[in-house]
Amino acid sequence: MEFPPISPLPPYPQRGPRVPPPPLMAEILQIIQLGHPVLRQQAQMVDNIQDQHIQKLIDDLIATLGNANGVGIAAPQVAECDRLFIVASCPSVRYPNAPVMEPVAMINPKLLAHSIEVIKGWEGCLSIPGIRGLVPRYQAIEVEYTDRDGKTQKQELTDFIARIFQHEYDHLDGVVFLDRLDTRDIITEQEYQKRVSTGK
Ligand code: ZN
Repeated sequence: MEFPPISPLPPYPQRGPRVPPPPLMAEILQIIQLGHPVLRQQAQMVDNIQDQHIQKLIDDLIATLGNANGVGIAAPQVAECDRLFIVASCPSVRYPNAPVMEPVAMINPKLLAHSIEVIKGWEGCLSIPGIRGLVPRYQAIEVEYTDRDGKTQKQELTDFIARIFQHEYDHLDGVVFLDRLDTRDIITEQEYQKRVSTGK
């Protein structure tokens, strides 16, 4: 048996290239430093959470925070005056005892209630490099915020996560951790690292 002669294939249909729209790649943003006037401004409520600029800002903040090995970052720290921040706790050289938590965008956050108990704990700030301070914060807080899908979330936060929230929340009102402490409780990063490594 013979195969029939091979007929030439019909020309491959020429379709237009099916290129999906380019994803909006997250960018690492520049973190502004203490002295920049935006860090002392009151941030504005976010009206439209689905706005592409806001959604992109959230992605960029998460990428910027990861790149800096931080546990929280607020929009004013990248010179955007929007009431939103990211909380993303995970253990690091700076915070060896931090719990693991996926990055969460908290938009238009509110502090509804707080414990009477206040605890002093070490904090630093990506906008104030080289400095650490013992900052008194409420041990437990009840908070409400809108997530990036537009849903209202109500949560009780405690200890380290409550501390991150309070630190970032302050940024939305132009307040930094140095405003909240006794100046004698300020130490250098180098001295802090010495204490972490010796467990003191
Ligand atoms: Zn900060």
